[in-house]
Amino acid sequence: MDSSVYLSASIRAQLEAQRGAGDDVIDFTIGNPDFPPPPEIVDHLARSIADPGNHRYAAHESAGERDYREAVAGMYRRRFDVTLDATRNTLALLGCKESAHYLCMALVEPGDVVMICEPAYTTYRGNAALFGAEIHAIQCRPEHGYLPDWSEVPASVLRRTKILFLNYPNNPTGAVMPLDAFEKAVALAHEYGFVICNDSAYAELYYDAPPPSVLSVPGALEVAVEVGSLSKSFNLCGWRLGYMVGHPGVVERVLRLKQFTDAGPFPALQQAGAAALRLSDTFHRDLRARYRVRRDRVVDGLRACGYDVFPPPAGMFVWARTPDAERSDEHVARLLREHRIACNPGGVYGLSGTSFVRFALSVNEALIEEAMYRLGKSF
Ligand SMILES: *Cc1c(COP(=O)(O)O)cnc(C)c1O
Repeated sequence: MDSSVYLSASIRAQLEAQRGAGDDVIDFTIGNPDFPPPPEIVDHLARSIADPGNHRYAAHESAGERDYREAVAGMYRRRFDVTLDATRNTLALLGCKESAHYLCMALVEPGDVVMICEPAYTTYRGNAALFGAEIHAIQCRPEHGYLPDWSEVPASVLRRTKILFLNYPNNPTGAVMPLDAFEKAVALAHEYGFVICNDSAYAELYYDAPPPSVLSVPGALEVAVEVGSLSKSFNLCGWRLGYMVGHPGVVERVLRLKQFTDAGPFPALQQAGAAALRLSDTFHRDLRARYRVRRDRVVDGLRACGYDVFPPPAGMFVWARTPDAERSDEHVARLLREHRIACNPGGVYGLSGTSFVRFALSVNEALIEEAMYRLGKSF
């Protein structure tokens, strides 16, 4: 589809080849949490699976069970002080990754503009391209805290925009968008008539103040949706359980498309997922503390080796400029060959990432120590 996909694939192939040859490669490439989910939620799923009523089509099919959607709305009330109507403003998703696909299908005609704030998760670009959109990438720079500078976007582009994809807290940078920046985006969406989708997959993994929701902005429900999931918040990536919340018209249009493709998540998963969304914050506090240890170790270790590191205020990645601004694909290939350390080349996430690399924090502390030791020896 685009060269970044092939680039990742070639690095993965090199990694597999080295592992096959007996190399002990330490893999920082994939954001796939290795921490366990809450044990009581796994128990809840076991009980839900044993319920014979749970093996038929879900009562509300694609939309999601009422109780799951109430739990999503309840979480928004507690966490963000945002009031949502479970029926009009919420929708179950099979993980939030699918949202970009349905949003583009629902809202984009060939030639319409889709705006993406880069560096960005590759799903937005892939789906926008799939539906014939003209992609306008806003390059977000470290000196602006990786936030978009709207003055760089011509009014002619804003006028043709159908969707603005935001992802805060951000993968790969960990940047958080403060409420006043969300306010600016919402004002532009009102002025130019486009829809905002903020991907809040990392909303619970933060190290400073809790990141806000775009829906906290007054009037946001008329122009914005937010998507999230249990994948990173509860270490449940494999469950494929997420949600879309916000603008009732957009939620309705996505639901209409989903009715042709799925019948909603497995009811037992929705019941255990609702219980997870109602858990106390203790689980997240512990999870953040564990990620913080890893984050600090990787940030310090990379800095000691000459990387210019943006200390992430949120998320599960460390984004770093390579020493001497070496090109990211060459740097990554060299780290793998010489140090048996795998990380992602920043160019995968957009043009502005070509001298950056991304380290995922889904590697245990002992392996992080070993990786930083290997790196440190070479400097
Ligand atoms: C991991 C990740 C997701 C998670 O997607 P799910 O489909 O919910 O598992 C979504 N967005 C971003 C930016 C991610 O990094």
